[in-house]
This record gives sequence, structure tokens and C-alpha cells, in this order.
Amino acid sequence: MDIHIIPCLKDNYAYIVENKKTKSACVIDPSEAAPIISFLNTNKVNLKYILNTHHHEDHIGGNLELKKKFNSQILGFEKDKNRIPGIDILLKNKEIWNFEGSDVLVEHVPGHTSGHIFYYFKNEESVFTGDTLFSFGCGRLFEGSYLEMINSLKKIKSLPHKTKVFCGHEYTINNLKFCMEIDKNNSELKEKYTQINNSIKNKLPSVPCNLSDEIKLNVFLKFDDLKFKKRIGFEDLNEVDFFKKIRDLKDNF
Ligand code: ZN
Ligand code: FE
Repeated sequence: MDIHIIPCLKDNYAYIVENKKTKSACVIDPSEAAPIISFLNTNKVNLKYILNTHHHEDHIGGNLELKKKFNSQILGFEKDKNRIPGIDILLKNKEIWNFEGSDVLVEHVPGHTSGHIFYYFKNEESVFTGDTLFSFGCGRLFEGSYLEMINSLKKIKSLPHKTKVFCGHEYTINNLKFCMEIDKNNSELKEKYTQINNSIKNKLPSVPCNLSDEIKLNVFLKFDDLKFKKRIGFEDLNEVDFFKKIRDLKDNF
């Protein structure tokens, strides 16, 4: 299975997962239809399914036009059935959906929105995290508590560490600047910054990132890392207070 990165709108990514043999594909979070149609037509690929991580406009904007054009089926979390346009297949938490013989684990990860889910493609060792986990960042909390978001991030952290992370937005440089502000003098962060800054300058996406790098360096995933908390002087904060502190600092960064 091939995964194609499709830049959309200002800083969104949609992803097309294509079975090379059958020329069938699904798309994750089509913000808009035009770039998806252009890719599918150029490569003569048929769009069987549209997968949404959550109901925000910049993740579902292309749903109806694509569904009409390719006769695709739309999938989303069962509890978001009234706010995902054109939804056909209602997914449950921990359900395993099958795409072209490939198992896809669906998990409910509330926090950014109450109905957010991720899609983990087992064979591809890839997770599509929408606006829950970003590279070196995480989504804002619009409909969930800090504790819910921590538990959602824990679900992502518990995937195999070699998992590739495909997130919903290209926010990586700004996120890295924030991580470097919190975790000063971390040479690995500085290296990442140099490397990704070069990619962005050459108009290359920073995605996918590696889950292992995120666990090691993303300050939003450090709520349970005592050594880290001590290093930055937050050893007195429990998981929720630590996460709240980091999230609040980022919201005002
Ligand atoms: Zn969103
Ligand atoms: Fe978004």
C-alpha cells in the first residue's frame, strides 16, 4: 500500500492510501476536493472510501464533492454521525475496519473534539492522528478536558514505537520552536529543527514523523517523564497540571 501526501488549503494535509495492485484508494481528511481529484485522475485511481478523523471543516470540506464524483463511502466516529457530512459507515471505538485486506484499528481520542478518532494501519505501521497529535505538538482542546487529552495521547504513545505518524497540519517548525523554548539546550531538538527547516525551505513536508522521536522529544508527551520534568523545573506538577501548563504556554506562544 502506498501513502501519498496531498497538501490542502493553507497548511492541511490529506492522505491517500492506495492499493497499487487494484488502483483502489481511501483518503483521510480531505479538506478540499480539488487536489484529491487531481491526484486520482492523474494516477487513474478510484476513491472507494473517505475517512474522517473529526468533524472540523478543514478535515471534511471535500467529503460531498468526492463522494458524488467517485461514489465513495464516508467513514467517521459513530457519535459524530450528525456532524460528518455524507457519513455512511459508523465506526466504534477499538473497531478494526478492513481496507483492501489491510487491518485498520480505529480508536476514540477525545480532547480536540469529543468525537475525534485515529486510524492505525497495521501493515503499513502508520497512524493518522488528525488534530490530536502533531509533529512536536498536539491539538488545542476545544471539546475535551486536559485529562481526556492526556489519555488520548497515551493511546497513541502505546502504539509500536516504530509507527509513522501522519498528522493533519504542517505546524512542525512552529511546534519545534516552542519545544526548544521549553526544553532549552536539547541538542536533538536543535538537530531536528535544522533538518526540518531545510525540508520546509525545499517545500518538502515534515510528515510523516516517527512516533519514537515524538515520545523522546515532543514536550506534550512528557507528562509522565519524571526525569524530563525535573530537568525543566516542573517536577512538582502532576500529569494533568504539567500538561495544562504546557498547553497554556503554547496557546500564548
Ligand atoms: Zn480540528
Ligand atoms: Fe484541523
